[in-house]
Formats: sequence, C-alpha cells, structure tokens
Amino acid sequence: MGQLLMFRGHFLITMHTIDDKLAKVTERIQQAALAAGRISGTVRLIAVSKTQSAAVVAQAYACGQRLFGENYLQEALEKQTALNLLTDIEWHFIGPIQSNKTRAIAENFAWIHSIDREKTAQRLNDQRPENLLPLQVCLQVNIDDETTKSGISLTELPMLARAVSQLPRLQLRGLMCIPAPVNNPEQQRAVFAKLRQALADLQAKGLQGLDTLSMGMSGDMEAAIAEGATFVRVGSDIFGARV
Ligand SMILES: *Cc1c(COP(=O)(O)O)cnc(C)c1O
Repeated sequence: MGQLLMFRGHFLITMHTIDDKLAKVTERIQQAALAAGRISGTVRLIAVSKTQSAAVVAQAYACGQRLFGENYLQEALEKQTALNLLTDIEWHFIGPIQSNKTRAIAENFAWIHSIDREKTAQRLNDQRPENLLPLQVCLQVNIDDETTKSGISLTELPMLARAVSQLPRLQLRGLMCIPAPVNNPEQQRAVFAKLRQALADLQAKGLQGLDTLSMGMSGDMEAAIAEGATFVRVGSDIFGARV
C-alpha cells in the first residue's frame, strides 16, 4: 500500500486524468447498455494496459479498475511481479499466443481471449496448474477475413470450439474478435452481429456454458454493446495514445 500511495503522490496529475477517463468510458458503457435495453452490469470493462507501466496500472487500480488486458507476455509478467500485492486484479491475455509461451500464459492469467488453434489450446490445457481454476477462454474469430491473419475462420470455428470444449483444464466461455477499424456505426454493428450469430450457432449445436462476447474497443465499443458484447477491451480511451 505504501508503494501505491507513493505512485499516487508521484503521478497525481495523471491519476486525475485516468480517473476522468475511466469515468467517461464507464459512462459510455452505461449509456450504450441502456440504449440497447441491457443491464449495464452485463458489460464488463477490461482496461488494456499494453505498453503502459506498472505504475499506470496501479493508478487505474486505485481508481477501482480490476480487469486488465495485456498483449505481450514478457511485459505482462514484469507488471504482475511489480503489482503482486494487488491480488484481486484479474489478468486477461488478449495478444497472439506463441507456442513456446503457453506455459507462462497458463500459469499467470485468469482469462485468454486469443485462442485460434487446437494445438495451442491443448498445450494451455496441459500446462494449467492444478491449484488454479480452469483457464477461462475465448476463441478469436477472424470475423472479416483478410484484414488480419489472427483468428479462426467462421467455417472452422465449430470444429475448434468442440475440441476446446473437451479440454478439462480450459473452460470455453465464448468468442472474441478484432474487426478492421471503420468509423460508420452501422458497419461496425454488422461485423459484431456476425460474432453474436456465431456464438448463437455454437449454443444451438449444444455447446454448454457459452456466455461471453469479447468485442469492442475505444473506437467501436457502443456498436459492440448494441450487439451483445459482455467484455469491452479499452486501451487508448483510458490511458491515452500508446507510446
Ligand atoms: C490494443 C488492443 C485493444 C485496445 O484498443 P484501443 O483502441 O486502444 O482501445 C483491444 N483489444 C486488443 C486485442 C488490443 O490489442
């Protein structure tokens, strides 16, 4: 706690900025949920802290934020070590997963949003420590093809989902996507609707426990919430532009 107060004293100006920005993002989430006729508590905010320091994460924590998303393993581990006293932070891995990094990911995160291959899922399953709860996972879907190489195609999704749902140390919770950035809200919604439909299709095939749509970032969270997002992943609108 001493450390935290020191951070707060030292970064007082930034601290207010993060507090303001978190409040604005939370307000946007509530408004979007309200407009969609949803209860705002059903949309959870992941603060994407990639490239931000442990001190900045501590500031967001002091403002009440508990869910943090990281893309790069080494950077994330350093922050986790620095912040290990903040035991109620929930760490989400949202970046590409390299095979040789699966053990450390399986050991140090509560959630993984970016599984797109069975081999990776199998390794994470085998390496998830016995003393921890099953890893909560989403499958990353390449929702508008072409734009990114990450993510499973919609065609191959059912097979991967079935395989992952059989793994005892992973709990398949839903789907994640990172669409190509577009400004038009109608276009944004159309893409998110595809992910919502993909989740409904898996549910209709009898897969159990699917309750998660991880979609929406700084520029499109309203559209994602309108289409049923349960996690939004927001970086720059909380922490400012990335360095
Ligand atoms: C960086 C990142 C985000 C946050 O993006 P912003 O536009 O800064 O809000 C969300 N999800 C993933 C997977 C990211 O890599």
